[in-house]
Amino acid sequence: MRRPAAVVLGLAASLAAAATPASETGLSAEAIRRAVTLRDEALVGSGAWELLRALTVAASPRFAGTPGDRAGVEWALATLVRLGFAEVRAEPVTVPRWERGEEAGWILDPSPRRVVLAALGGSVGTPEPDLAAEVVAVADLEELEALDAAAVTGRFVFFTARMERTRDGSGYGRTVRARGAGPSAAAAKGAVGVLLRSVGTSDDRIAHTGATRYRDGLPRIPAVALSHPDADVLEARLGGAVPVRFRLRLTSRYLADVESANVVGEVTGRERPDEIVLLGCHLDSWDLGEGAQDDGAGCAIVLEAARRIGELPERPRRTIRVVLFANEEFGLSGARAYAAAHAEELTGHALGVESDLGAGRVWRFAWRAAPEARPALDAIAAVLAPLGIERGDNEARGGADLWPLRAAGMPVVELRQDATGYFDVHHTVNDTLLQVDPEELDQNVAAYAAAAYLAAETALDFGFFPPEPWP
Ligand code: ZN
Ligand code: ZN
Repeated sequence: MRRPAAVVLGLAASLAAAATPASETGLSAEAIRRAVTLRDEALVGSGAWELLRALTVAASPRFAGTPGDRAGVEWALATLVRLGFAEVRAEPVTVPRWERGEEAGWILDPSPRRVVLAALGGSVGTPEPDLAAEVVAVADLEELEALDAAAVTGRFVFFTARMERTRDGSGYGRTVRARGAGPSAAAAKGAVGVLLRSVGTSDDRIAHTGATRYRDGLPRIPAVALSHPDADVLEARLGGAVPVRFRLRLTSRYLADVESANVVGEVTGRERPDEIVLLGCHLDSWDLGEGAQDDGAGCAIVLEAARRIGELPERPRRTIRVVLFANEEFGLSGARAYAAAHAEELTGHALGVESDLGAGRVWRFAWRAAPEARPALDAIAAVLAPLGIERGDNEARGGADLWPLRAAGMPVVELRQDATGYFDVHHTVNDTLLQVDPEELDQNVAAYAAAAYLAAETALDFGFFPPEPWP
């Protein structure tokens, strides 16, 4: 269902807000006018939702190394050509191939109850025919560290901490550590398996998957996420007088690595074609839903924003490069491969931005750039302000696919989305097109189109930082 945008924003107000002299911002009044037009035209109805719909029909889910992943790459290549991008190409990326298999679990005591669960990405399977053991509960990694090995050995460790719902998504970062590091931390104390309260905010009986990482030199034990209602019951039963056992059956396994690809297309700059403003998203998704929010929406946003810039009568100074990264979810394979393949031209990356926090409205603009770029960033912030976007600070991190580039020194900006509802569907069966609001998607396109155009157009430089170590 499409709804018209409530307000078309006034040109005069935005021009007044951005009325710093052109010599300071590196942007002409005409450039500001173009950005305002890009913004307002996208707001009354962009093609992003139709792109997202087409992607989910052609290829969903798109888990790394699966036929859906391959279909996503094919769809992206054809779509970039159809939308008029230059230099359209697939850059090879080797991705791991993990298969979920069958998954089932039961709380056994005092009476059997089947639970809703999802294996964590990368988990090993259970021994045949299944695994039954007592459960010991801890809130988080710190509480596990404080336990004696004797209390853990031979048991399932159950991580109970609940993710907090926040607009900036920071509740995720606080609880996701147990998903990544929990299985090896538990194995180090002799545990036989891990049960994790889903890292997500849904009250529904659905489980949130996500990657886990085993440390070398420790036993690899199976690990699953439980739905919140089932985790609640397990916690309550553990508060009773009798020990509680859990039974898990999991047939997850690794297969041989597979070739996938980063898909790249460009709007060639008119004056400085070798300077790149990178607009990123990730094309892969988890295997449970459609990957509409994570990260089909991000890809639709950056594709539609860049397409609109490409159709302007005059291109911006710098090249806009759209990169649809492979396998973000299960090891950042595409991000690593891109940084390696483009090592020679890394310093040509003037600025990067990635859309990977769903499809909610953008509410904050932040950056990490040299102080000399501040007038141009101020001008961008002024054009974004009527979209309800506040000015952030100079400490932007950028999306996960940008981490290797940021560590190499590339400046980044963030158009931070409202993540209040994002973690209700994140990495679940409910990540479907129905969860994406076309009007919110249009607001994202408006923000990305205006910001990317001005960043590519300004004569100011964003600087380049000294390299930092990156894990
Ligand atoms: Zn994502
Ligand atoms: Zn994700």
